[in-house]
Order: sequence, then C-alpha cells, then structure tokens
Amino acid sequence: MQVYNTLSKKIEKFTPVNEDEVKLYCCGPTVYDFVHIGNIRTFIFYDIIRRTLLGSGFKVKQVINLTDVDDKTIKNSKIRGMGLKEFTDKYTEYFFEDIDKVNIKRAEVYPRATENIEEMKAIILGLLEKGYAYTADDGIYYSVSKFKDYGKLSGAKADGGLSRIKNDEYDKENATDFALWKNWTENDGDVYWDKELPKGRPGWHIECSAMSLRYLGETLDIHSGAVDLIFPHHENEIAQSEAYNGKKFVKYWVHPEHLLVNGKKMSKSLYNFFTLRDIEKQEFDPMSFRLMIIDTHYRSKLDFSFESLRKYEKTLEDIDIALKLLEKLEKIGPADTETMDIIKNESNDFEDAIGKDFDTHSALLHFFKIIDLINAKAQKGKISLMEYDNLIETIDTMNGFIGVIKDYVVPKNLFKIAEERKSLRQSGDWKEADKKRNVIKDAGFKIIDLANSDYLIIKDRKYGR
Ligand code: AMP
Ligand code: ZN
Repeated sequence: MQVYNTLSKKIEKFTPVNEDEVKLYCCGPTVYDFVHIGNIRTFIFYDIIRRTLLGSGFKVKQVINLTDVDDKTIKNSKIRGMGLKEFTDKYTEYFFEDIDKVNIKRAEVYPRATENIEEMKAIILGLLEKGYAYTADDGIYYSVSKFKDYGKLSGAKADGGLSRIKNDEYDKENATDFALWKNWTENDGDVYWDKELPKGRPGWHIECSAMSLRYLGETLDIHSGAVDLIFPHHENEIAQSEAYNGKKFVKYWVHPEHLLVNGKKMSKSLYNFFTLRDIEKQEFDPMSFRLMIIDTHYRSKLDFSFESLRKYEKTLEDIDIALKLLEKLEKIGPADTETMDIIKNESNDFEDAIGKDFDTHSALLHFFKIIDLINAKAQKGKISLMEYDNLIETIDTMNGFIGVIKDYVVPKNLFKIAEERKSLRQSGDWKEADKKRNVIKDAGFKIIDLANSDYLIIKDRKYGR
C-alpha cells in the first residue's frame, strides 16, 4: 500500500509501526447538530481507509472520537434548554443512523470526550510540569514557542508567545498559544470539572491527544481529518502529544479534501449545507451519495449538486439491475478463458488502484468493467457456473473495499403481487395489471420487465425526476 503523507508531502510506502495491528485515529463529529454531507464525505473516506487496510490483509484498530464537550455543544445545549449529556446523546444517535445509511462500517472504539477527562488532565499536568504549558487567568495554555517542531505539519510559525487564544477554532498563519484547559465562566453553566485543575473544562485539541493515547498508544500509524484540521487542530495535537510522550505521534497524516457547494466549502457557518436527511427528503438513496464520493479522488475538492447526485442514482440502479440479472442467468456450459482472464485482470487492477493512495476513482473503473461483463453475459442469457462463482466472489471482494452495494430486502408479498400482475397481463387485463404495478410502486419498489414475461423487482430510485 502507498499513502500520501501530509507531513512529507509525498506518496510513501505504507509500513505500520507494528505489523500485527494498524492503529488508525480519525477526528470524529462534534455532536451538536446533524452532521452535514461535507462531514459525511470525510467519514466515508475514513471508512475507505479502514476497508482498504482490512482488504490488504492488515488487522485494524480504528478510533473515531465524539466531541461532546466544547464551545458549540455547550452553547447549543443551552439554547435548546437541555442538559449537555442528553443533548449530545441525541446527536450521537443521529450520527450513527447517518453513517449506517451510507454503509460505513463501525470503528472499534467511539470514545466520548467527557469520558476521558482524567486522561486529558494527566497530559495537561504533565505539560505544566515539563514547562510546555502555563497558567493564565482564564485557563491553562500551551506555549507553542517551547515546542521546537511547531509548524512541521502545516508550516505555521510560532509567534514567540506574543498572543494566546481561548477559542478552539482560529485562523491560519496565526500560531498563537492555545487553550488546553478553559476556566469556568457563567456560559458553561453546570459543565465543569474541578479536581486537580481549576474549575473548568478541556479545550478541543487536548481531547484527541488524550483519546488517541488511551486507546492506541503513543505512536499512531494513520491519523486523519479533513484538510481544515491540518491547522490548528492537528498541529496542536502533535505539539501536545510529542511534548508529553517524547515519541513520534503519527507516522502517516492523511487529509481528505472538502465537499463544496458552488465553489465554497460546505459549512454550518455559511448556511450552505445539506444533511443526509435533506437528500432523503428529495427521495434520493443515500447510497448514491456514497458512490458520488468514492468516484472522486479524496485529495480533490468536490462540488456537490443534486443534478450530479441524480446521475449517481442512475448508476446505482444500473449496478442493481446487473446483479439481479446475473442471479437469473442460466448457469451452464464450460468457462470461457477470455472471461476468466478479464475477471482476474480487473480484480488485480482494482486492488492495485485502491492500494495506491486510496484511488477509489480508478478502482471504480475496474469495478464497472466487471459490471459491463455481467451485462454482456446477460445479453447471451447464460453463463458458466465457474464464471458465475468467480464474478460473485470478485464483486464481493471489490465491494468489501468500496461498499457501494448495500443489500436490501424486497418484501415477499410484492413477489406475489408481481405474479398476479403477470397473469393479468397474459390475459390482456392491462388496467388491473397497472394497478398491481402501482401497489408495488407505493411500497417503494419497481418492476423491470424482461423478455418472456419475466421481470425483476428493484428499489424504486426516482432519478428520472
Ligand atoms: P466537525 O464535526 O466540525 O468537527 O467535523 C467533522 C469532520 O468533518 C472533520 O474531519 C472536519 O474536518 C470534516 N469537515 C468539515 N467540513 C467539511 C466539508 N465541507 N467537507 C469535508 N469534510 C468536512
Ligand atoms: Zn481531533
């Protein structure tokens, strides 16, 4: 495997610190609202990292943190008149619902910041003791000029302790001392911890240093987050973790690009965002969004539009139909060597592509060669059992990497209704037959008629709108 490392700005061969298990840390959601599909682009990419590692034979321990205490969660829970835990639990639940809809596999651990406060305090106390942190009147700060490697990831320059900043998020260029711990203010209400450190709460950056150390140890193999996290978040994580542990923090830094809308980064603050729920309201299958995301290289920006989503919805249906046709084919006759060669070559090329810095776009081209092959066989009406078995295995393996096919169940009664429709059509009762078709449509499915009165029942994707 090869990976583009933001630290070296080069594509490097991937060799984990310990071959037994790859340690993968991904910055997760702040659970103060529904995540938007820009966030989901990033979460789908985390899933691609995980699947590619597993598919390449590695064991993986993946940690995705949940930020359930920060400026935004406190502010929004107050606005909604809810306790912080009740509020963040709700949005955590929605987060899991959303990632399931786009076929993201679960990570090993989803630690919550509020359940790791002791670990954060230990690091802060250690940094104070080592002289990397200092106490100010409103909190405890990290002194960026004390850490000689500050800026090695992002190129930001420490300003020599001229200024400090309490906000979690701040500008580029501006490498100020940042808050590790924020002393309590009235805005924080009942959100505080008051043992060992002054009454207060952690800053955002320390959360990831603490949770990665607890669950994965001092050195991680891969750490990911979208490009906006390179500075200050990841630069600050390096400063905290390397100063505290005295060890290299991360071997490979991997940063996916943003999802845009009309050329601008999708974000809550610009109000130019959509959630997965918005997509569903317009009757799109969330899986078409997944396909759209993996058809673009993760290091390229991607402009979102519903027109483009429609195109992917159609492609999703084409895949669906091809696989259902494959099931119907008569399995007979000897395997054809040319077909077997295509299957083998496309499989190899697929794995080569995705192993080269997660190039899902190129990998998909090989996946579609396999779909084309299935369609060609469907034209002939038959396939050898050996070719069939190989195709099924290949599709399964490829889908293990990219996860674009999500099985769904067609309710049994719909097959009965479809059979009734078939008889009605055979007896020329088109009107009644159409009624049956509509019953199936109302249930969210549609019939694709084939030759000889045969048919398929598939999910009703309304890309034609
Ligand atoms: P947040 O909940 O804001 O901490 O963001 C969760 C993840 O989504 C982080 O890795 C962010 O960098 C990422 N993210 C935020 N906005 C976008 C966007 N427009 N496109 C892609 N990823 C994003
Ligand atoms: Zn983080």
